Amino acid sequence: MHCPFCQNPDTKVVDTRLNEDGHSIRRRRECPKCGRRFTTLETTMLLVMKRSGNIEPFNLDKVVSGVRKACQGRPIREEDLKLLGQKVEEDLRSQGKAQVKSDEVGKAILKPLRDLDEVAYLRFASVYRNFSGLGDFQQAIDELRHGEDNSQDNNQGDSRGNGTSSE
Ligand SMILES: [Zn+2]
Repeated sequence: MHCPFCQNPDTKVVDTRLNEDGHSIRRRRECPKCGRRFTTLETTMLLVMKRSGNIEPFNLDKVVSGVRKACQGRPIREEDLKLLGQKVEEDLRSQGKAQVKSDEVGKAILKPLRDLDEVAYLRFASVYRNFSGLGDFQQAIDELRHGEDNSQDNNQGDSRGNGTSSE
């Protein structure tokens, strides 16, 4: 690995440790020529198989931009989108597979998006699940309501993400 500071082709590893998530390895490297240190991150490459059969590397930016489209006009911050993208990646990586289908990526997006914003969720679901009419929306809304009933935790009131904010 080339030194990113002086481009010296030879660097040595001075420390190797497993990342907290257990899915990646950090290596601390030192350049013998300029003496500077830097860190590299080693992860398995997560691949996504498209419906067409094409296989491409998982792309976090793509996930975020797809969700961003569904979030247009909704009170959602850019950092929420990034966080959602990270959740999706963690979810997929935690399955321990090197390759997932694009459907699974969509599925992994639905849950955190539902928690984030119900309108954006419906928009995204309508594309991802190919809604063909009102009936499909009705069913998805019923599922949302049903899900709320099932998750009646003790924090009622402020857990309803209906877009109102105290700011
Ligand atoms: Zn160097």
